[in-house]
Amino acid sequence: MIKRSYLLTTVMGIPVRAHITLILLLPFLALQFMPLFGVARFFFSLLCAAGVFVCVALHELGHSWVAIRKGCRVHEIMLLPIGGVAKMINIPSRPKDEFLVAFAGPATSALLALLCHLIGMGFVLLGLPSLAMLFLILSYVNLLLFLFNLLPSFPMDGGRIFRAFMTPRIGRLRATALAARIGRIMAVAGGIFGLFHGNFILVLIAIFIYQAAGAEYRAVYAQQMSQDWFTIEPQADIYVSPPPYARHVAPVWKKWKNKTNAFFNDLFKNWQ
Ligand SMILES: [Zn+2]
Repeated sequence: MIKRSYLLTTVMGIPVRAHITLILLLPFLALQFMPLFGVARFFFSLLCAAGVFVCVALHELGHSWVAIRKGCRVHEIMLLPIGGVAKMINIPSRPKDEFLVAFAGPATSALLALLCHLIGMGFVLLGLPSLAMLFLILSYVNLLLFLFNLLPSFPMDGGRIFRAFMTPRIGRLRATALAARIGRIMAVAGGIFGLFHGNFILVLIAIFIYQAAGAEYRAVYAQQMSQDWFTIEPQADIYVSPPPYARHVAPVWKKWKNKTNAFFNDLFKNWQ
């Protein structure tokens, strides 16, 4: 029987797992980095793709580290082709704690961006171009993870930060609804953009974000409705932004358009 995920390591008592789809897709994801490397291309590209997911796991561990200190329990960290998820048994509902747990992820990514940049520059000075490129790409990826996660919408960390700020003003449920709506609007816009640029990874990410935004609202709604009768532990999955390897995907849409144009040009030439 094929297992659905594989245990990579355990950090702070939290199992870090890789989903089977990620393991199968990793060589294909590595292809996106191929044009950036010189000799030993595939080896470094594969290392780069794996490095991206190490950074995603560290981002999630950043959340988890603060969450554990705030009395939360983290069930596991799952790495998926479109990003990572820290599955938490409960999350803090006090706005200040929620802000700290949410901000810990982007803060980790910002630190990693700086660290990878310094290591990359070190390899430049040592005259090791492939290793320098590897760390400079990881620095860039972490910078994008940092910026993307600060978008004020679910399921990104910015959505939680936004809710932490808005809860004292308009209440937790309405703050969640607002952040979820922003998330859906951005997902639709991103999906349409991805479709027209032939960027299918972006389309997948958009569908994922659209669904996750709704799930967050439903979870808080159910929690509020049941509050008068019994207390349930709200389960929350904290997502990381998807890795931005989509940047290097060839614009399939344009290729398609050119092929179609060529076909019709030939057709008209034969008619004349
Ligand atoms: Zn995060």
